[in-house]
Amino acid sequence: MSTSLTASDITPYRGRFAPSPTGPLHAGSLVAALASFLDARHAGGAWVLRIDDIDPPRAVAGSVGLITEALSAHDLHWDGAVRYQSQSSDAYHRALQQLAETGALFRCRCTRSTLSDQGTCGQRCEQRAISDDEPHSLRVRFDAAQLAGFADRFQGMQPVTPETAVADFIVRRRDGLFAYQLAAAVDDAQPHFTHIVRGADLLDSTHRQRWLMQLLGQTSPCYGHIAVMHDGDGNKLSKQNGAPELDLARTPDNLRDCLTHLHQPAPPSSARENGEILDYAIEHWTLHI
Ligand SMILES: [Zn+2]
Repeated sequence: MSTSLTASDITPYRGRFAPSPTGPLHAGSLVAALASFLDARHAGGAWVLRIDDIDPPRAVAGSVGLITEALSAHDLHWDGAVRYQSQSSDAYHRALQQLAETGALFRCRCTRSTLSDQGTCGQRCEQRAISDDEPHSLRVRFDAAQLAGFADRFQGMQPVTPETAVADFIVRRRDGLFAYQLAAAVDDAQPHFTHIVRGADLLDSTHRQRWLMQLLGQTSPCYGHIAVMHDGDGNKLSKQNGAPELDLARTPDNLRDCLTHLHQPAPPSSARENGEILDYAIEHWTLHI
């Protein structure tokens, strides 16, 4: 399903691919890279590579080199220098201060065992005085009634419902690290990026990130979530599930496999080089996926 909004309605287009440095690229992450690349290039826009490295305990040494090598091997060339979320700590600090000023932030001393099944604060911590030196995370209250739904370019209307909205969520972890939702909201908002194309497994996060953007007075980008790849057992292809590293000796085939997954027209068999395949795919990129 598509909406009347197309990538070319908003210019200039700025899109991105934002992998975490937790291992080499696999077929599932290549699909996200390719879809965001094609969408940007079809619109004549910029495509940025951002490494989402705000979780050092999960980082795997050497991943960034493997990711950039794999993208380059597939001729997916990004614009400008690689960006790193780890270099944006000041912006995240400022965002936390701003959120505190809105009154939506509260300290939570819940541990995994006291959180609710939904991952929300399970002990009404917001009604308690939790001192600075007591271990705590920072959470944001999510007033779903104040957030409008949005039109996903590929998945259609996404209303905010009790199922998609949680009462609160974490923005700074107990260990002091910034939470994924905070960093994504700060870095994905306009004018940094106008269009976000990523896997549908992140759809549930989008309302939370849009809520943070709204609290921070930022404009949300246009979102398009693509179907994720599954392995033979029906599990999402992911590093956690042991998805194999891409074979860089067969990059044209990898690109063709991704285009098939994205329901894009097959490039002619005469197109053997990555560049030829990508040129065809950019020209024929369609939102109806
Ligand atoms: Zn709590």
